[in-house]
Amino acid sequence: LRAATTPSPLTSPAALRRFLSALAILEQRDGKIVPSSLSAVTAAKQLGGSVHAFVAGGDVSGAASEAARAQGVDKVVAVDKAPAYDRGLPESFAPLVAENVKKGGYTHVVAAHSAFGKNVLPRVAALLDAQQVSDVTAIQDDKTFVRPIYAGNAVATVESSDPIKVVTVRGTAFPPAPVAGDEGAGAAAVEAGVDPKVESPTEWVSEDLAKSDRPDLGTASRVVSGGRGLKSKEEFERIMLPLADSLGAAVGASRAAVDSGYADNSLQVGQTGKVVAPQLYVAVGISGAIQHLAGMKDSKVIAAINKDPDAPIFQVADVGLVGDLFEKVPELTEKVKKA
Ligand code: FAD
Repeated sequence: LRAATTPSPLTSPAALRRFLSALAILEQRDGKIVPSSLSAVTAAKQLGGSVHAFVAGGDVSGAASEAARAQGVDKVVAVDKAPAYDRGLPESFAPLVAENVKKGGYTHVVAAHSAFGKNVLPRVAALLDAQQVSDVTAIQDDKTFVRPIYAGNAVATVESSDPIKVVTVRGTAFPPAPVAGDEGAGAAAVEAGVDPKVESPTEWVSEDLAKSDRPDLGTASRVVSGGRGLKSKEEFERIMLPLADSLGAAVGASRAAVDSGYADNSLQVGQTGKVVAPQLYVAVGISGAIQHLAGMKDSKVIAAINKDPDAPIFQVADVGLVGDLFEKVPELTEKVKKA
């Protein structure tokens, strides 16, 4: 009996790791890798096997060489000169990924838990007849993953028995893999992937992107967020933007502020918005509902300004200021500018 349970040299953990191979799905925009998508490489590396990065689009030679220089990437699989994939439309991108996974015989498919990853990977999982594991915050081993549930109020450890594991990872838990400079030394090989050229019923028409010179909300080291307490779009901009600029911070908002039209949708922080974990998070006129906390409670330092001393945000805040935001925030902005 004992002989049957003793791992043979071929099934020992070390031998199994040799057969592990992960495909990290990267997002590209205008031929450049979207930096936050490189968290897929960091997570894939932790699985212990080889890591291939996947990129596709109309002109991805630059993106492929960037991916080849990302730390931890052993090989890049690129589908170039295929503009149909430029916008990452899930109807065509998912079959493309699935075909390349089958061809490469990968055991894992990993992507960042971004709008792109959330759009594409569930379809990839369906095509591979696997059950996706979403929004992973820690990897215990090649089949065991930790993920928050109930808006972050509980943490589940899940084990997948699917032959191919399809996983999205939370960016704040897996920092993007660093990319080495242009010198090319040590860059991984780039290999052409397969293009199944699936006809898609969906066509990309146009996009209306909120443009900002401020840091990106998802990756900024400082974030200032405004809530319903700001009262109007005009006041939100008058109060929050100078504070953000004085701190060099990205601007975020609560869902109530977004729903009331004070701030753009893309700025929402929380369970149904972005999850951020900056060095500093300043919550202004935000009560601290659990759905908001789900998006920011892992921030290093949380500062809150609220006129209600019993607001739940003060329970998670490291620094709190009870007062009228219309008075306190401009005062704070002036002080930061002078500091
Ligand atoms: P409020 O709760 O109205 O709080 C406003 C705060 O401003 C109050 O604490 C008040 O004391 C303070 N205030 C008012 N005037 C002043 C002043 N002059 N000076 C100082 N302070 C002042 N919410 C999110 O944020 N993100 C999400 O992703 C999200 N997802 C959700 C998903 C689901 C399924 C559901 C049901 C809800 C979700 N919500 C989300 C909504 C959430 O429950 C709250 O309704 C929302 O976060 C409240 O936003 P708020 O704190 O800005 O507004």
